[in-house]
Amino acid sequence: MSLTNRILLAMAAGVAIGSGMEWFLTGIDPADPTAQFINDWFINGLFHVVGRIFIASLKLLVVPLVLVSLICGMTSLGSGNRMGAIAGRTVFLYLLTTAIAVSLGLIGASVIGPGNGLSVTPDMTYSPKIAPPLTDVIVNIFPSNPFSAMVKGEMLQVIVFALLVGFAITRAGEPGQRIASWFRDMEVIVMKMVGLLIELAPWGVFALLVRLFATMGFETIFNLAAYFFTLSGLLIFHALVVYPLILKATTRLNPLILLSKMRPVWAFAFSTASSGATLPVTLRTVEKRLGVPKSVAGFSVPLGATINMDGTAIMQGVATVFIAQVYGIDLGPAQLLMVILTASLASIGTAAVPGVGLITLSLVLQQAGLPVEGVALIIGVDRLLDMIRTAVNVTGDAMVSTVVAYREGQLDEAIYNDPNADNDTLETEAKPA
Ligand code: ASP
Repeated sequence: MSLTNRILLAMAAGVAIGSGMEWFLTGIDPADPTAQFINDWFINGLFHVVGRIFIASLKLLVVPLVLVSLICGMTSLGSGNRMGAIAGRTVFLYLLTTAIAVSLGLIGASVIGPGNGLSVTPDMTYSPKIAPPLTDVIVNIFPSNPFSAMVKGEMLQVIVFALLVGFAITRAGEPGQRIASWFRDMEVIVMKMVGLLIELAPWGVFALLVRLFATMGFETIFNLAAYFFTLSGLLIFHALVVYPLILKATTRLNPLILLSKMRPVWAFAFSTASSGATLPVTLRTVEKRLGVPKSVAGFSVPLGATINMDGTAIMQGVATVFIAQVYGIDLGPAQLLMVILTASLASIGTAAVPGVGLITLSLVLQQAGLPVEGVALIIGVDRLLDMIRTAVNVTGDAMVSTVVAYREGQLDEAIYNDPNADNDTLETEAKPA
């Protein structure tokens, strides 16, 4: 079986077995020895350990990968003259797709009205975590210590540092050439590590999902069904309709190919709920299966994982309208515009880890003059939605990266159109069993 199919199968099995365990455990007394055995040995034992190790190994590769591929990308651009244009196009598309995503969330939720008819329960409390002010977000892009940036995993700082190193290498003549070839060798090795890890993915994905679904309370989803289905419907619509339309409008590529090649990446995003942890797989897929050259992918994918979160933006649009509806507040055009602006900026400031979109939502609510306590309404169902929106987030990164490469005339269309590209890892259909 191909690795893609194995990962997808692991995902389905994880969801099914996890939900089965949840159903079984809610039916018996928690003090029952069987329940305790399942909890101690499997849910909090085996699956917990395997899942944690899997996420740790993914995260392990993020900093070396971003650093090395960005430096290689810069050096392969030669004198780095195109970097400005590539960066400009990438950032523009990221902001544009995010603004489209928030608007979709706002319009969709206004039309469907998931919060109409619901009312606030008096015992609701939520103390918002303070989101950092915008000025700090901007200042924090610039590193004062490259090692501290890498240790803390500050992706934007690592990106800035790598860009600087890459740029300097292209200007440094002979010594630059030597170091560049060292980084190219390093890249092969880091990519190999990603490939090895991807081989283990079915086990990691399975363990994460069994544990998650065995411990997730589904009652909250039924209570908030209107919100849950409005949001998940819009997320799926964005990934399966809006992205293909954008790709069609800007390139001559077949969008179905992109979607089908993203399937294993979705499994990673869904099970980790973190664009950051998924980054090694997104980058590998974009380079080796979609045919985007390092010079574009090395920059746009890590940047996108950090600042481009269309799924999160849709969530913030829907959540804002939902909370306004529950509190019986009408949102005027000025407020809606404010939401589009702040949610787009918040998506830049949202860290690529689970659940942060909910924290930056309080910023959006505050700016729109809505009660921040409203976050308490949706917190119960956020985990599953986080998984879905993370899959949308990484799809946006891959799509924009592909469009930029295409417009730069640098996309390798033979790889893009080849269903068996990157045979050695993600696809093994072509090989005899
Ligand atoms: N979990 C999301 C991501 O990593 C961020 C969020 O919306 O909470 O992409």
